[in-house]
Amino acid sequence: MLDSQLLCPDCQTQHVEGVAEGMSYVLRCGACGDAILATSLIAILKPDSDRIIEARLDPRIEDRPAAAATIEKLWGLPVAEVLARDPLFRGPTRTVRDMILAVAQAGVPLVLHWPSSS
Ligand SMILES: [Zn+2]
Repeated sequence: MLDSQLLCPDCQTQHVEGVAEGMSYVLRCGACGDAILATSLIAILKPDSDRIIEARLDPRIEDRPAAAATIEKLWGLPVAEVLARDPLFRGPTRTVRDMILAVAQAGVPLVLHWPSSS
């Protein structure tokens, strides 16, 4: 993964996770949760990619009433039930990109992973 060289300045781990929200995309430490690098969401969601991507709800969403309300509106389910769908989306980027963008643009933070193909 391209960000495997990143090291968290706070806890020194290399467990990086991507979080998409609005039109932004943040790489943050998966261990302590500190954001360490930001880039554009569009840039990482190339529409023609066959690379498998997984999107999960950010579990910290329960601390974000506005985003939680958006989830309940989008899915018609309590946040806890949507959180239990793990992952929320999984597949080649070309097939799940639109869903990820729609959810992220609605202001709901998603954690993105690219599972290794091995
Ligand atoms: Zn850290």
